[in-house]
Amino acid sequence: METINTLTNQNEIQSLRQQLDEANAAIEAIRTGQVDAFVVEDKNGPRLYTLKSADQTYRLFIEKMTEGAITLNKEGIILYCNSRFARMINIPLENMIGSYFKNTIPQGSKKAFDSLISKGWKQEYKDELSLVSTGGKIIPVLISLTTLDLDEGTVLSLIFTDLTSQKKIEKQLREKNALLKKANAVVEQLNNELEERVIERTKELSTSREHFRFLADTIPVIVWTALPNGDFDYFNTRWYDYTGMNFEQSAGKGWQAAEHPDDLAKVLVEWNKALISGDPFKIESRKKSAKGIYRYYIMNALPFKDKDGNVIRWFGVCTDIEDQKKDMERKDEFISMASHELKTPVTTLKAYTEILLMEAESKQNKMELNMLQKMDKQINKLTSLIGDLLDVSKSNAGQLNLEIEKIDFNQLVKEVVNVMQLTVKTHKIELDLSETQLIYGDKNRLGQVITNLLSNAAKYSPKANKIKISSANNGNEIKLCVHDYGIGIPVSQQSKLFNRFFRVSKNTYPGLGLGLYICNEIIKRHDGRMDFKSEEGKGSTFCFYLPVKNN
Ligand code: ADP
Repeated sequence: METINTLTNQNEIQSLRQQLDEANAAIEAIRTGQVDAFVVEDKNGPRLYTLKSADQTYRLFIEKMTEGAITLNKEGIILYCNSRFARMINIPLENMIGSYFKNTIPQGSKKAFDSLISKGWKQEYKDELSLVSTGGKIIPVLISLTTLDLDEGTVLSLIFTDLTSQKKIEKQLREKNALLKKANAVVEQLNNELEERVIERTKELSTSREHFRFLADTIPVIVWTALPNGDFDYFNTRWYDYTGMNFEQSAGKGWQAAEHPDDLAKVLVEWNKALISGDPFKIESRKKSAKGIYRYYIMNALPFKDKDGNVIRWFGVCTDIEDQKKDMERKDEFISMASHELKTPVTTLKAYTEILLMEAESKQNKMELNMLQKMDKQINKLTSLIGDLLDVSKSNAGQLNLEIEKIDFNQLVKEVVNVMQLTVKTHKIELDLSETQLIYGDKNRLGQVITNLLSNAAKYSPKANKIKISSANNGNEIKLCVHDYGIGIPVSQQSKLFNRFFRVSKNTYPGLGLGLYICNEIIKRHDGRMDFKSEEGKGSTFCFYLPVKNN
C-alpha cells in the first residue's frame, strides 16, 4: 500500500510539475507572441482565452510601454500582465499571469481596488491609488480601466501609470509654490510699504508744491520757470494779474508779447546767451501791463543744474523797478540841475580868488597869500567835483560829446603824467611805454581818464611811493595800465566797481564814487573797454583798451 501511495504521490508530483512547466511555457509563449490563446480552468470548466488583436506588434507595444498593463477576467484572474507591471510591484512575471489580481494587491488597498474594478467593469474609469510592492515600496499610480471585448468574452484592462516622478515633481512644485507664495507675500508687503511711501511722498510733494505756489503767489515779484530750451512753463499769479495774459498766451515764447518792442531784441540776445552758457541771466526791460502801460522790470534768472552741470530748469523773477527808475531819474535831474547851478558861482569864486592871489603876490602879503592858495585849492576840488557830477548827468542823458582828433598816444600819456607829477609829490610815476600809436580820440577826455586812474592809484596807496604806468600796442588795440601797490579791492566788492556812486565799503578816503564810472563811460564812447586786477593789501592794476583805427 505504502509503495502504491508513494507511487501515486510521485505520479501526482510528476503531473503537477508537467502542468506547471506547460503553464510557464504557455505564459512565455503568450508574452513573446508565440501563442494567441490559452486555457484557464474556472468553475465552469476550462475556458479558452485569445487576445483579439494579439498580434506581434500589439504585444511588443504593450511590452515596451512605460505603463504597467494587465487584463483581468470577471473573476479577477490576471489573463495578461506586461513585465513593466510585474517589475512595478516586484513580483516575478510568471507568478502574476493566471493568479488572482487581489492577491497581488497590498492589504490596505484591497477595498479601494475592489471598488475601482467594479466601477471599471461598468464604464471607462480613471483614479489614483497607491500600490505597495513586495519590497514595501509605495508607488503612486494612475489607473485607467476599460473593458475589452475578446473572442472568448469581455475582459478588464488596467493600465498603471507610475506617478512617482510626477508626484515628486508635484511635491517640488508645491514646495516651490509655497516658496513663491512666501516671496509673493514679501513682495506684496514691500509693495504695500512702497505704495504707502509713495502716497506719503506724493502728499509731501503736493504740500511742498502748495507751499511753493503759496510762496510764489504771495511774494511781491513775478516768478517764472523755464525749460532748458528756454520755453517758459510756469508763472505765478502776479504775472497773470500784471499782464492780463493767461497761461496759454504766456507759455513757451508767449511771454515775449509783454516786452516793449524797443527792448525785446536786447532781452532775447541776453536770454539766448544765458541759455547757451548756462550763466545767470539779468536784464532790465519794460513790460506791458494789462492796461497797456509799460513799467520797468529787472529780470533775473538762475539755472538749476544736475550733478553733471546740465541745466534742468531756469528759475526767474521779474522785479518792478519803475519807482526806483523814476527816483534815479529825479536824482539825476537834481544832480544835473544842482551841478549847473553850482558851476557859475564856483567859476566866479575861482576868478575872484585868482585876482586876489595876484594882488597878494604883488603885495608880498605872506599870510594872505597862504590863505588864498588854500582857498584856491579847495575851489579846485569843488570845481572837479562839480565837473564829475556834470559828466555823470551828461553821460546819463547821452550828452557826453567827444571832440575827436588825431592824437599821438605816448605824447598824451607823457603830458598827463608830467602835470600829475607836479601835484602828486608822494609817489614817483614810472613810465614803461611801448611803441607809440596815432589814435583818434578826445584828448581832454582821455587825459581825464589817465588823470583819474593816476589820482586813484596815489589816493589808495598811501604807504607806497611809486606808481607804474605801462602800455602795449599790438597794432589793433592799444592798452594802457596804471599799477599801484596800495590797499587793493576785496573780491566781494569788485563786480560793482564801475557802477556810479559805488565806493568800496569802509572807504575812508574822500570821493563820490563817480571817477571810475566816468572813465568807463568815456572809454566806451571811444569803442574801447576797461578792466582791472586787484588783490587786497597788495595793489591794483586798472587798464583801458582803445581800438586802433586807420582813419
Ligand atoms: P572815488 O571817488 O570814491 O575814488 P571812483 O569811482 O574813482 O570813486 O572809485 C570807486 C571806488 O573804487 C573807490 O571808492 C575805491 O573804493 C575803489 N578804488 C578805485 N581805485 C582804486 C585803487 N587804485 N585802489 C583801491 N581801490 C580803488
